[in-house]
Amino acid sequence: MNLIDGNKISAEVKDEIALEVTRMKERGEKVPHLAALIVGHDGASETYVGNKEKACKQVGFDSTVIRFEESVTEKEILEKVNEFNNNPSIDGFIIQLPLPKHISEQKVIEAIDPRKDVDGFHPINLGRMVIGLPAYVSATPAGIIELFKRYKIETSGKNVVVIGRSNIVGKPISILLSQKASPGDATVTLTHSRTKNLKEVVSRADIVIAALGNPEFLTADMVKDGAVVIDVGITRVKSEKTKSGWKLIGDVKFDEVSQKASFITPVPGGVGLMTIVSLLQNTLKAAKGEIYPKK
Ligand code: NAD
Repeated sequence: MNLIDGNKISAEVKDEIALEVTRMKERGEKVPHLAALIVGHDGASETYVGNKEKACKQVGFDSTVIRFEESVTEKEILEKVNEFNNNPSIDGFIIQLPLPKHISEQKVIEAIDPRKDVDGFHPINLGRMVIGLPAYVSATPAGIIELFKRYKIETSGKNVVVIGRSNIVGKPISILLSQKASPGDATVTLTHSRTKNLKEVVSRADIVIAALGNPEFLTADMVKDGAVVIDVGITRVKSEKTKSGWKLIGDVKFDEVSQKASFITPVPGGVGLMTIVSLLQNTLKAAKGEIYPKK
């Protein structure tokens, strides 16, 4: 078994980004600036935004975090989005999801200027990605692709089974891996809660991507010998053994699946770290006008 080390790869990518930021400064250019909007005090969301802020500092980006209470109105959020859209110092921004029930996430996402949508959630970026045009690809699928590249994991002609069809992970990674590209050129099966005989479908996979949010769902009897296993799931459970009182559990029963897998990502220390660096990569692209030329 080879461990796919998100710590190592994310540190490598961050070093590369930091070097690029140093060069930008030397050329007298503005450093990339990522903004985030967070609503309420959800522990997981606070952690994600905190980690993103820390990562920005590590690579030399500017970062801004705007916080709203749960009672914020949709209008106030939309006004802030509009402000971000029109603030030339901000290259890209994210809206930390989920939002409270009284706010339409879709409406907020569609209000983001696609040129600043570094999370790649706007329908324009999703649509462009589907037809192979330059686009911001959502951070988790982009992070998985980066891991395949850096570990030289062959995807061409392979059977890939993705478990979970969310708009931010399952669907985009299925599309990316089925595209004529490298990594890509795979035969992809997208499975979900209504899939029949999931175990049988998964057992034929050369590569399994588990993104369903069900702790330790994928067990050794479901995967074939030598499969590549990517664990996207993150479930926070209470723990008396950690300082924070929480620990993170993936969708894969790591101890037993790792005995059969050729490559496997751990949780934590796998895909989650790559999600953050992909966001940094997208922000760098935004600052350099690589996806959409600067106005
Ligand atoms: P989601 O929670 O929106 O949807 C879950 C999907 O799993 C649905 O499509 C559903 O049909 C499918 N599903 C549920 N039970 C199933 C079952 N028994 N068999 C087959 N399919 C089933 O998905 P999401 O937002 O992609 O989140 C999935 C997990 O990934 C969560 O644990 C989330 O925290 C985690 N996540 C991690 C990262 C990261 O950076 N590592 C990023 C995003 C999400």
